Amino acid sequence: MSRPTPVTVAHGDGIGPEIMDATLRILSAAGARLAIETIEIGESVYQRGFSAGIEPAAWDSLRRTKVFLKAPITTPQGGGFKSLNVTVRKTLGLFANVRPCVAYAPFVRTRHPGMDVVIVRENEEDTYGGIEHRQTNEVVQCLKLITRPGSEKIVRYAFEYARAHGRRKVTCFTKDNIMKLTDGLFHQVFERIAADYPELEHEHWIVDIGAAKLADTPEAFDVVVMPNLYGDILSDVAAQIAGSVGLAGSANIGEQAAMFEAIHGSAPRRAGQNLANPSGLLLAGVMMMVHIGQPQIARAVHNAWLRTVEDGVHTYDIFKEGVSRQKVSTAQFADAVIARLGKLPEHLKPASYAGQSAQLPISFAGERAHKELVGVDVFVDWDGPNRDPALLARELGGAEGGGLKLRMITNRGTKVWPGGLPETFCTDHWRCRFTPDDGIARHHQIVALLQRIAERGLDFIKTEGLYTFDGQPGYSRGQGE
Ligand code: NAD
Repeated sequence: MSRPTPVTVAHGDGIGPEIMDATLRILSAAGARLAIETIEIGESVYQRGFSAGIEPAAWDSLRRTKVFLKAPITTPQGGGFKSLNVTVRKTLGLFANVRPCVAYAPFVRTRHPGMDVVIVRENEEDTYGGIEHRQTNEVVQCLKLITRPGSEKIVRYAFEYARAHGRRKVTCFTKDNIMKLTDGLFHQVFERIAADYPELEHEHWIVDIGAAKLADTPEAFDVVVMPNLYGDILSDVAAQIAGSVGLAGSANIGEQAAMFEAIHGSAPRRAGQNLANPSGLLLAGVMMMVHIGQPQIARAVHNAWLRTVEDGVHTYDIFKEGVSRQKVSTAQFADAVIARLGKLPEHLKPASYAGQSAQLPISFAGERAHKELVGVDVFVDWDGPNRDPALLARELGGAEGGGLKLRMITNRGTKVWPGGLPETFCTDHWRCRFTPDDGIARHHQIVALLQRIAERGLDFIKTEGLYTFDGQPGYSRGQGE
């Protein structure tokens, strides 16, 4: 028999300790080979002055085991506290959030009985880098970063997950009809990687109509992969409409480490009453057993759990007269699952984790395009008379020189000069595009241009180089062009 796998466990706050006890008891009864290291996280740690809710020493365990089974914690109210989840996710490089959203009809009430969707959300990029700036009186900016390696990792993970779990289709949601470069890159990577998985269907939806379809007909989807922001929102929508927020587990997967947890919080009002449903954390534990290469334990626990739900043995949150047979406590629910180990569900689809590899291959295409500087966008804070773009153009025209000429001014992305319309609402934030006549720009020309702009008393708030990559423009054009 193989040696026990080291795993770091945190019992958390509120109902955390009760549902963790139930989960570990079930895993152990199923024969899970775990060497558990326990760490403290959450409220008490925050109160001892550790602003991220975790003590420095706990990282030693996480770095050693690289597997974290985490109960929910209570996030203290008020400022100064950091999200433990965000800290762990970023520190350990957990790039994928995986959330199966499954309906258990008719045993748990849901409007979408056939729903069985896995949301795979990119976890590190997009607008979640938290890079924000106030640039003018009226305008603030959040930087949306989509990277090729980040997109390749998450998309490949989604396809590998689909293959390993016997899924038939992977869907991608983006808004690349508007964000042609950022979401466009994510979509492009998706199409390219899909070609490596000919046995799986693949499709792309624009996120707005895709979200509407997901909320209305979730049975149409299987595995859905998304950039961070859309995934954050839609994984909650998907869990909610499955009818099983209290039953869903999730995994945060990185190349080095992984964290498994229920999607619900610490439910402080239910704490210490032996009432809470341990299912979300238990199903996260099932995902962990697959990840650490003990799929037979995952299968046994998952099927015993399905059988328990089917037999109508329910905690208060899913108990329903006429469907449920027995209202049980947290501990009794755990006993009921243990008593059914070795049994399969009779109505719900049995779980099968045969032959799944815990190690997911991740590869990167390392190609580098030929990059050329062809101009600059200078962003200016300007509140001149009537906010008339022609006046700003005249001011900036005086700063032209060294081959660089003003070609276009946009306001919030809409072209307002040359040839703008007086009806266009303008803020104090202007993008002013300069390019040379001969196509190739030089950094020293741009530095000299900025010097002349500053000498004319104009406040340039930032610049963006305009580059082509293998001849293709790497920048957006103004709407209205
Ligand atoms: P919550 O998920 O704790 O509770 C929402 C509702 O669901 C409550 O009515 C609760 O009683 C019920 N509920 C949740 N889990 C249940 C379970 N297993 N069994 C039965 N009923 C259950 O959300 P909240 O009340 O908004 O948050 C409470 C605390 O949890 C907050 O401090 C919040 O910051 C924290 N939280 C932590 C995590 C995490 O650690 N990952 C996630 C979400 C919220």
